[in-house]
Amino acid sequence: MQLIYDYEPEKVFKDVDVYFYGAGTGFSSYSKIGIAAFKSINKKPVAFIDDNFIGNSDKLFDIKVLKPEDAKNQIEKLGRDYVIVITSNYFDSIAESISKFKLANKAYGLTPLKKNITEKSCSTLISYADALRKLEGHHSKSQQYDRKIQTLKSEKINIAFLDIQLTERCTMKCKDCSNLMQYYEKPINADHDELVTSLNNLLEVIDDLSEARLLGGEPFLYKQIDEILEILVKSEKVHNIYIYTNGTIKVKRNIIEALKNKKITVEITDYGEKLSRNKENLINSFEEASINFVSHKPQNWTDSARIVQNNLDEKNLTQMFKACCVNDVFTLLHGNLYHCPFSANVVNLKALFPSDKEFVNLKNLSFEDLKINLKRFIFGRPYLESCKLCLGRDFTQPLVEPALQIKKNIPLPDFIRK
Ligand code: SF4
Ligand code: SF4
Repeated sequence: MQLIYDYEPEKVFKDVDVYFYGAGTGFSSYSKIGIAAFKSINKKPVAFIDDNFIGNSDKLFDIKVLKPEDAKNQIEKLGRDYVIVITSNYFDSIAESISKFKLANKAYGLTPLKKNITEKSCSTLISYADALRKLEGHHSKSQQYDRKIQTLKSEKINIAFLDIQLTERCTMKCKDCSNLMQYYEKPINADHDELVTSLNNLLEVIDDLSEARLLGGEPFLYKQIDEILEILVKSEKVHNIYIYTNGTIKVKRNIIEALKNKKITVEITDYGEKLSRNKENLINSFEEASINFVSHKPQNWTDSARIVQNNLDEKNLTQMFKACCVNDVFTLLHGNLYHCPFSANVVNLKALFPSDKEFVNLKNLSFEDLKINLKRFIFGRPYLESCKLCLGRDFTQPLVEPALQIKKNIPLPDFIRK
């Protein structure tokens, strides 16, 4: 969201509805300043917008306070031109909310209204001296927000690893699957339209992707994998594409065709003849079609695939996140981008209350807002909420036997179900 804090109030607010975003917990100083300034230009806001208003009624200064979603409905229903003025210093959270609810691409700060406030217009609302002092603070916060947005805009988004989780389904049931497939009771595939939209949006806003990795579960259970490959192959931003299979599925002719590209490598984990029953068949097809592939036995599996309550304090969570070998393996699952595969699946399994700070929704934002949200998300986390439910992945965890098969899914731990 672009913040405009140098403008002519009389021109900008003429003949449009004005919404004040920020009612505050009670009567905030900034809402009082807005009302005082508008008195001088004989204008009244149509409504306040606030997602967290604490007042005795749903009105402030006899003006309705709307939740952002209700404001969106009202604006659409009225169909009139409107602008939003930010009557708060919480620019970041308001900007996030404005973009989340698609309320506007820009909003106005209070700074230029300084010339419209007078001793008289402030009268019973706020002391004139206090209003001027508060406006100074508001102005410097506006500049700070603006500088941050400019910096975020100029930084490039280069992603090293992107896991694209095509499905929650697998042909095997490993007790210690690090993607947490063992916890799924009713696993499903990705919705194809949602996946295509979110992947295209992501590729539009990032600058570079070293390695896209298609996996699941078992990625060859996803029938339109060829269409996803086509998108990745065509994108000049994507350098390498890996597909991780367990060697259980015979791959169809159209998929073989789609795999014929030098960017693509299929990585077959060989779990032995009994489990990876189609490994030889796959290898023959790949050799015949000159498809890049590697085949290897499962490598060291660590005890990192359990959902636990680790009770670590902030310092240790930060340390755990820093040391984690997958903290930058961004994961695309059901239209959202997560920091790591564990986080994606722990949220998807509803083992964690789905806070929207844990992921970025790739479907609903303008490209500009998506870019800014992504940068905030990628660069601004000391640790994830998901880390609180994780044992960490820094190779110091004890080793476990790879691919130990279980018959039934593992129920989520009791502390989650309570
Ligand atoms: S083969 Fe095992 S480790 Fe691999 S995705 Fe399936 S359940 Fe997980
Ligand atoms: S939740 Fe945290 S510690 Fe666990 S895998 Fe993800 S980033 Fe690493």
